[in-house]
Amino acid sequence: MSGNATFAEIADALRAHQRIVVISHVRPDGDALGCSVAMALCLKELGKDVQVWNEEGPLEKLAFLPGSSLVQIPPSEPVDVDLVLALDTAVRDRLGQRCLAAIRSAKLWINIDHHVSNPRYGDLVFIDSSSPATGQIVFELIQDTGLPFNTAIAENLFAAISTDTGSFQYSNTTSRTFEIAAQLVNAGVNVGQISEKLYHTVPRRRLELLRTLLNSTQFRHHDQVASFSLSQETAKRLGVLPEDNEALIDNIRAVDTVKVAVFFEELNDGKVRVSMRSKDPRYDVCKICSLFGGGGHTLAAGARIPGSLAHAEEIVLAAVEEELQAVSAATQP
Ligand code: AMP
Ligand code: MN
Ligand code: MN
Repeated sequence: MSGNATFAEIADALRAHQRIVVISHVRPDGDALGCSVAMALCLKELGKDVQVWNEEGPLEKLAFLPGSSLVQIPPSEPVDVDLVLALDTAVRDRLGQRCLAAIRSAKLWINIDHHVSNPRYGDLVFIDSSSPATGQIVFELIQDTGLPFNTAIAENLFAAISTDTGSFQYSNTTSRTFEIAAQLVNAGVNVGQISEKLYHTVPRRRLELLRTLLNSTQFRHHDQVASFSLSQETAKRLGVLPEDNEALIDNIRAVDTVKVAVFFEELNDGKVRVSMRSKDPRYDVCKICSLFGGGGHTLAAGARIPGSLAHAEEIVLAAVEEELQAVSAATQP
């Protein structure tokens, strides 16, 4: 955490500027959008002119959250702003081309994140890789500095923290996470209602996608590596949205023998999105993904690789097997 700005410095900067744009990573998740909307609602309470941009716009599945309609695709005409607040985004590039191009000028950049691989871009930076979600840092910031807080903000932060901790189940969940969750519930979050919408309400096409992916699942390296792939052609045939595949990888990660799970998704820009999960810090998927220009966390990471699906499968699975071999050689008695 060395070199972090203080929460007071960040809050002062937010109070001192008027035109603020809140941005987050491409292929947004509940943490990225939950934090963005929470901060936007907070800043609106302060009377700021706030915009929330995301390269891919709002998510259909998070439309139930208050303030979700604030999320917009970046404008095609660049604008001048006073302050940019980048949330939950491991590297600047992951904010997206259109998003970066839409900012003609900004006086100050704030970068708040929990990715260990974050290179600390921006003027005021707060990175805490021990935090399970950027939403947890945002809560601490709001509470610590007395920024505005209400039920709608609490609901967005609950969605952020709940989704990034796998519903408070991943090993990144700490007692502090539960303390914060309790405070969010005290602020009016209805756990049953929000969880039902976050986890137990899906369009049929997501189930059809899971059916197809499970049918094509491959196991290798003594069942220690499991993977499945989604081609553009299959995505079109099933009519799925990019957001439909989030967390489906958890189905193959769950297999008892599996050390590393990999999901390959063919994108429409000639690249393949790789999503990787581990359940043991000895198998560091951030390290594997960084071989391909990606990053993330030790147990959940990703990368984007130019070329065909088959090419990405070949080079990535070879790297995964190599890492498993290296770890087992190092741990041999
Ligand atoms: P995902 O598999 O897309 O859910 O991503 C898992 C984690 O890795 C998330 O915390 C992402 O922010 C991070 N991540 C995914 N892709 C990249 C990338 N290309 N570069 C850096 N971090 C990434
Ligand atoms: Mn995220
Ligand atoms: Mn996150």
